Amino acid sequence: MATDCIFCKIAKGEIPCSRVYEDKDLLVFLDIAPANKGHCLIVTKEHYETLTDLPPELLRKTTEVCQKVAKALSLSLGTDGFNLFMNNGRAAGQLVSHAHFHIVPRFSTDGIRFEWPHKKYADREMQEYQDKIKKFL
Ligand code: 5GP
Ligand code: ZN
Repeated sequence: MATDCIFCKIAKGEIPCSRVYEDKDLLVFLDIAPANKGHCLIVTKEHYETLTDLPPELLRKTTEVCQKVAKALSLSLGTDGFNLFMNNGRAAGQLVSHAHFHIVPRFSTDGIRFEWPHKKYADREMQEYQDKIKKFL
């Protein structure tokens, strides 16, 4: 456990949460400030900071639980869709430095828009980015 990590404290039961699922590795609870009611957070019980820190087997379990939660939101709330996302690192908007996925239930009339500016590649720049990234994969 990382000292002063709010999600570690929630996972250990030291801070209350509205828990919807738990197993030996993972905990799912309602986000206190939801984008839509029913917005869930899927957290590992052990402290890891970001996606890249998660052991592969734990990541696999986490994505399976994300799928379960998405199905449960559809059945329980009659959602029309859902957003699954993760903020990794301060620059990406991660406020709690304990790896977690968000699942936001969506309805066709909810009016929520997750938007970002659309940049443009200069000539040949797309190829450069493709080559740079591919080298590490
Ligand atoms: P991040 O930006 O790190 O991906 O998102 C952290 C999320 O955790 C936010 O959506 C925020 O509302 C939620 N959150 C922060 N503190 C608490 C808490 O004490 N309890 C619950 N249930 N959610 C929290
Ligand atoms: Zn933690």
